[in-house]
Amino acid sequence: MTQALQTDIVILGGGIAGLWLLNRLRQEGYDVVLIEKSALGAGQTLASQGIIHGGLKYALSGVLSPASSAIAAMPELWRSCLRGEGDIDLRDCKVLSPNYFMWSSGGYRSRLKTFLGSKALRGRIDALSPSAYPDFLRAQSLSGMLYQLTDFVVDTPSLVEVLAAPHRDRIFQIPPEQLRLVGDAERGMTSLQMHTADGPLTLQAQRLVLSAGEGNDALLSQLGINNPQMQTRPLHMLAVRSRHPHPVYLHCIGDSFGMTPRLTITSHPGPDGFWDWYIGGEIAEAGTQRSAHEQIEEGRTQLQQMFPWVDLSEAQWTSFFVNRAEPKLANLQRPDTAYIHSVANTVVAWPTKLTLTPELGNGAVNLFKEQGLRPLSSEQSPAASTAISQYFETPPVATPRWEDLLR
Ligand SMILES: Cc1cc2nc3c(=O)[nH]c(=O)nc-3n(C[C@H](O)[C@H](O)[C@H](O)COP(=O)(O)OP(=O)(O)OC[C@H]3O[C@@H](n4cnc5c(N)ncnc54)[C@H](O)[C@@H]3O)c2cc1C
Repeated sequence: MTQALQTDIVILGGGIAGLWLLNRLRQEGYDVVLIEKSALGAGQTLASQGIIHGGLKYALSGVLSPASSAIAAMPELWRSCLRGEGDIDLRDCKVLSPNYFMWSSGGYRSRLKTFLGSKALRGRIDALSPSAYPDFLRAQSLSGMLYQLTDFVVDTPSLVEVLAAPHRDRIFQIPPEQLRLVGDAERGMTSLQMHTADGPLTLQAQRLVLSAGEGNDALLSQLGINNPQMQTRPLHMLAVRSRHPHPVYLHCIGDSFGMTPRLTITSHPGPDGFWDWYIGGEIAEAGTQRSAHEQIEEGRTQLQQMFPWVDLSEAQWTSFFVNRAEPKLANLQRPDTAYIHSVANTVVAWPTKLTLTPELGNGAVNLFKEQGLRPLSSEQSPAASTAISQYFETPPVATPRWEDLLR
């Protein structure tokens, strides 16, 4: 038995990009089916630190380019969604910290970078007096300066949950061995074949959106599309579970020539009311050459140097490797905007940052409007998802990697 089904848009990949696009495109009246190979958020999204950035990283050199100025608008855009007034209603998404902080620990280059950054971000950064320090730093005699940024931190599992909740009947978990993309670079996807116990299900769509993060590379190859290309940037992230009572949300600006903070720390609820500190930044970029043992030793040394008042003697540590996936740019540059590119009926999407996903959403909606894409008639509309739901389940939300490793 072969069943042939129709829909407007198939999205492959259920990270922040796929889920955001599912919401935005359904608001526009399109019939949309999202297919995830494992669990929702399983790629970079639940490995991310959940920081909604306002452009600090680009500002440390003292210059904001027009593209990087776009990121400055993002915290307010997200806040409007969190109030239920933006593109998507995120009122049920948990915010872990309404603020993010930056500490220049006192060295010459560190002070210079934060000085230039504070000039470039004028109006969006406040130098704090000790009485306004967050609990973790309060009562400590810090050298250097502490700043409060407009950035804030969301709980990524709850973000994924909130984006998936209204559309569970449109989201399916289908392992790659049961799924085949048929098509070529000239026509894009002609059909998508799903293998079921009762034979193949064939789905045709007006558009295919590839939002599979690192998985986009293999999907583009299946269709014979060799432009755009993907690049990955490896990171060696650290996490530490201690009985310290306070969460930490802090960029520690170091003395290196690089523009990446020495440590970027976020905190996530752990067991018994304590916190898992999750650590990225320069240590994660430079740490890709270190073994897990070496990386943990490096993390322990740096935390002890910076926060000598914290007792980590009983702490549990872990580390893991994860790639950022993004479009390959000339000169190995890092993209600083959301990326969306159309090839025949196929759209390739990398937000490049969680923060920039709303920009990706607007990009997709505008692109399909410009292309004159019209929704299917309402009689045809729910048929594909109803048929697929007989064979495939809605995937669960993934667990953050450090939580699994520290269990
Ligand atoms: C360690 C780390 C920290 C980060 N921290 C931040 C931060 O604090 N702030 C910020 O703004 N950005 C951050 N980022 C960047 C941000 O996480 C990513 O830009 C964003 O999550 C990418 O989302 P995505 O949906 O494109 O990809 P992903 O989250 O990787 O999702 C892709 C999904 O596609 C699925 N998939 C793969 N192949 C297939 C297939 N063949 N068929 C179906 N499904 C498939 C995967 O299982 C996965 O669920 C961080 C990234 C990393 C790695």
